[in-house]
Parts: sequence; structure tokens; C-alpha cells
Amino acid sequence: MINDNCIFCKIANGVISSNTLYEDEDFRVILDLGPATKGHALILPKEHAANLYEISDDIASKTMLLAKKMAAIMTDRLDCDGFNLVQNNGEAAGQTVMHFHMHLIPRYKDDGQNILWVPSKPSQEELEDIKNKIIK
Ligand code: 5GP
Ligand code: ZN
Repeated sequence: MINDNCIFCKIANGVISSNTLYEDEDFRVILDLGPATKGHALILPKEHAANLYEISDDIASKTMLLAKKMAAIMTDRLDCDGFNLVQNNGEAAGQTVMHFHMHLIPRYKDDGQNILWVPSKPSQEELEDIKNKIIK
């Protein structure tokens, strides 16, 4: 299903034009308009789902296979030195467009980007606490 109010539905389904790198029956891969680095691209499923919690298992597995394929091609063509896959879910996690997408971010030595986090130093007790919450 396409959501009429969703910009990525329109781009993925060709209603709005984009710099397309790849397309098949399930996906369109486009260049990001505000790239973190040269070649920063987005994998967009054609079917609307807001986030990871909503996508089907089929789309979830195909997304990772496509990411693997695109990373190999882009690394070869762009001669980048590394590659980040980034996938944000919810405002708190930095998601700004509420249509599931995966970022493909080629990385270059000294590209000036920092897609990392500040590590904390939990005690063993805190680690066990959180582990027990997750695995119950
Ligand atoms: P998010 O923060 O939701 O994970 O990522 C949204 C991404 O979509 C951002 O990197 C932003 O630059 C990109 N973006 C937002 N609107 C458009 C658009 O209309 N076209 C393209 N190509 N990228 C967009
Ligand atoms: Zn959508």
C-alpha cells in the first residue's frame, strides 16, 4: 500500500523523480539529498511501512541482501575506505521521514563525519539488570 501523504512512498514508486541507483519490484535505491558523504544513498521499499517494527519479514531480509549488494558495488565504484549501514526508528533515534529506509553511507579516510556514539561505563550490576529486562 502507498501512503498518499508520504514523500518516500512517492519517490519509491516514481511519482516524484529522484537520482535512482537501482530499482526492482520491491525497492528503489536513491541518492540522499542531504548526504553525509559522497554517495550517501537510501534503500526505500515501495510498500509503505513506517519503521522496522512494521516491515514484513520478507522486506526485512531483502533489505539486508540489497544493502550487501549495493555496498559491494558502491565500494568498488567509489573506492571508499569503509561503509556504514544506518537505520533509524522513531524520532528519539533520529528518524525524520516515517517510511522505513536504510542509509548506505560510504566512508572515506578523513571524511570528517562521525556516525558513532559516546560510550558509557555501566557496572556489571547495570549490565545484568538490562540483560534481565531484555531476556526476562
Ligand atoms: P532519517 O533521519 O529519517 O533516518 O533519514 C532521512 C533522510 O532522508 C535524510 O538523510 C535526508 O537527507 C533524506 N531526505 C529527506 N527528504 C528527502 C527527499 O525528498 N529526497 C531525498 N533523496 N532524500 C531525502
Ligand atoms: Zn511511505
